[in-house]
Amino acid sequence: MGVGRPAGPASRLLAGVEGAADAQAALAGISYASMAVVTLAYPSAAFPAPLTGSGYLVPAVDGHPVKAVTYSSLKWPHLRSAEPGMIVVRCSIGRIGEEEVLHRDDADLATLAAADLAGATGVRGRPASHRVTRWGGALPQYTVGHLGRVERIRAGVGRQPGLAVCGAAYDGIGIPACIATARTAADQILAHLCAPRGAAGPDRPPGGGEWSPGRGRRARPRRGGPPGPCPRNGTNDSPPTRGGPSG
Ligand SMILES: Cc1cc2nc3c(=O)[nH]c(=O)nc-3n(C[C@H](O)[C@H](O)[C@H](O)COP(=O)(O)OP(=O)(O)OC[C@H]3O[C@@H](n4cnc5c(N)ncnc54)[C@H](O)[C@@H]3O)c2cc1C
Repeated sequence: MGVGRPAGPASRLLAGVEGAADAQAALAGISYASMAVVTLAYPSAAFPAPLTGSGYLVPAVDGHPVKAVTYSSLKWPHLRSAEPGMIVVRCSIGRIGEEEVLHRDDADLATLAAADLAGATGVRGRPASHRVTRWGGALPQYTVGHLGRVERIRAGVGRQPGLAVCGAAYDGIGIPACIATARTAADQILAHLCAPRGAAGPDRPPGGGEWSPGRGRRARPRRGGPPGPCPRNGTNDSPPTRGGPSG
């Protein structure tokens, strides 16, 4: 089973799982930041010069509430064609320890973001429209000791045959990093499902015996070969087929 929940719910899921107490504690030690995305739309003429690039980042030491700006209309051309003559930008507000600013109402946050954007780009006037999207507890924080925590999580989870974790809490919060953890988790689960029955090591349930498919623990190998997603040649190079025969 792959656990792709944020660290808090993942930690609670591990409650009572044999050998996973340390992993559970390490998961609970990963904190999350909340943020709000303020999307602003301006007539392109409001900008003193055409925007270039895809946006900018603002370090915490600069003391601005907006920590990142994406020039959405430049990054995603379909936005330009949907609203010709308009420029849509996305301002991110909220750093760890600065949650107070997120208590402001939507109109206030939009004003704050627009003022910051005007300071950075020179855009004139009020935005033609705005939308505030709040993301509570969305960004895991990689604080000192994070690598050790991840090691403890993987060690504890790895003791459970066929169990793996994935998502933003481990190796990077960007989508490519999340996908990589999901692929690794899927490979681990597949390796477990495809291991020969009765093999020694982590493929055996605690206390011995066989995994039961009825408990979602172990896919029973098909007669004359490994379970559906298992390659016949002993490698995992080819993509698994869903429910169909492999090879
Ligand atoms: C506003 C914002 C903008 C971003 N922009 C970018 C970007 O431009 N590029 C980029 O690479 N990354 C970006 N990221 C980061 C990236 O999107 C995330 O890190 C990534 O999507 C997280 O994937 P995940 O699978 O770990 O978590 P999620 O996609 O959040 O999946 C977690 C799942 O767990 C479920 N869940 C939550 N709580 C529970 C519970 N208690 N019980 C059961 N299920 C639960 C949720 O419903 C969800 O399905 C952005 C993040 C945010 C918040």
